[in-house]
Amino acid sequence: MLPTKSKSFNPHQTSLVKLQQSAKESPNTCRVGMAVTLTFLVLLCITFTHTFSNVASSHLHGNPTNTNSRTERKMYPEVQKISRRDRQRILVTGGAGFVGSNLVHRLLREGHYVIVVDNFFTGRKDNLHQWLGFDHLEIIRHDVIEPIHLEVDRIYHLACPASPPHYMYNKIKTVKTSTQGTLNMLGLAKRTKARILLTSTSEVYGDPLVHPQKEDYWGNVNMLGPRSCYDEGKRLAETLMMSYHEQSNVDTRIARIFNTFGPHMHPSDGRVVSNFIVQALQGQDLTIYGDGMQTRSFQYVDDLVDGLMKLMESDETLPVNIGNPREMTIKEFASIIQKKIGTNNPNGKEVNIVHLKSTKDDPRKRKPDISKAKRVLGWEPKVSTEDGLDSTIKYFLGEIERLGEIDIVGPLARRTLREEERERE
Ligand code: NAD
Ligand code: UDP
Repeated sequence: MLPTKSKSFNPHQTSLVKLQQSAKESPNTCRVGMAVTLTFLVLLCITFTHTFSNVASSHLHGNPTNTNSRTERKMYPEVQKISRRDRQRILVTGGAGFVGSNLVHRLLREGHYVIVVDNFFTGRKDNLHQWLGFDHLEIIRHDVIEPIHLEVDRIYHLACPASPPHYMYNKIKTVKTSTQGTLNMLGLAKRTKARILLTSTSEVYGDPLVHPQKEDYWGNVNMLGPRSCYDEGKRLAETLMMSYHEQSNVDTRIARIFNTFGPHMHPSDGRVVSNFIVQALQGQDLTIYGDGMQTRSFQYVDDLVDGLMKLMESDETLPVNIGNPREMTIKEFASIIQKKIGTNNPNGKEVNIVHLKSTKDDPRKRKPDISKAKRVLGWEPKVSTEDGLDSTIKYFLGEIERLGEIDIVGPLARRTLREEERERE
């Protein structure tokens, strides 16, 4: 919500001045005046004590309203009141990114104290704009490949670019983030005895030979391919989690996340959901890489956040798939977007589908087996793809309005699709 200005007006003070003035005017009215003044002062004391205790308790219980300065008052989203004992101090690495910011929002609303650590490679402060200045949120610009000393109870370790063009942009950095970054967070967890959750990925299954993918499948990953910086990085991150758990008793959780979409995705994210929606809203062709017969299963971000929080508070230390098992081809997905957005673009025409060259090592099939998540977490996705897409389209409409025309990032990481198109012409 927007900050609202409050005037520095004190009704008590104004009334007192008036009373004092009238006391000077006549001796009879003086006594009456003094009595009224005294009554007023008592009332003032009561009001002050009441206000003070409210401020103190709002500090303890996370009142949604937080006064930053005498002149500026910012309204924050409603937060739950929880006792100091139940309030956790939670570190979210990558908390300014797509999934991270949605998770931070939920944790703050549940009354916890959150520390975000992010290097803002793909994350944006804007994703947390509703909460900027809130007492229970700290944002630290920091790269997880460097150690950091903090005191925390829980660590959600998300820091890592997740979109193929973003993680391929600087492959060495992606490997360092997944490995050195995870080592640093595990070191922090070991020192503080905090529980740590790693956001791993369905990419650990590579181009899977088993379908749907269950947690006990070891995967089919090309360790030399363009995706390996991410896939192998996350596989090693899982190994580090298990090693610290077994050897040093660190309390670990591993979530294997399948394709997720929703508000706060970067407009130039480069993944299929944001690309197709932004293309359709801007009246551009939807670009399918290859024949479009490859499949994915898309989950809405609120379901993922729910699953991550359930996993964190569970006893399960082995990996758990978190995804929506509704599988579709990319071709089907393109026509869903085509139908949903229709002619809602500046040209008022329905957009076409074009096929571009397929990308190397693009997994042909992907669908989670979520029987373990159902069994051990009592979790399953609740939001339908259609409802999730409606909120996401609304979000991207707002982003286009705010930022102007958005350039789509192509599959080759360093170029936009428009640059690639120019090269082909
Ligand atoms: P994102 O790119 O939106 O967010 C990643 C965040 O990490 C960004 O804020 C980025 O600035 C930050 N970051 C990157 N490198 C960092 C570093 N070295 N130090 C500090 N901060 C760093 O991606 P996302 O979709 O929100 O993904 C979040 C996590 O979930 C990632 O670990 C990703 O692997 C995992 N995941 C996501 C999906 C998905 O579909 N969104 C699927 C599988 C796994
Ligand atoms: N994809 C596509 N057009 C795009 C972006 C992606 O056809 O503009 C395809 C991509 O080749 C892959 C699928 O959509 O087969 C999902 O890609 P995304 O980058 O969203 O995530 P991935 O699951 O590959 O990590």
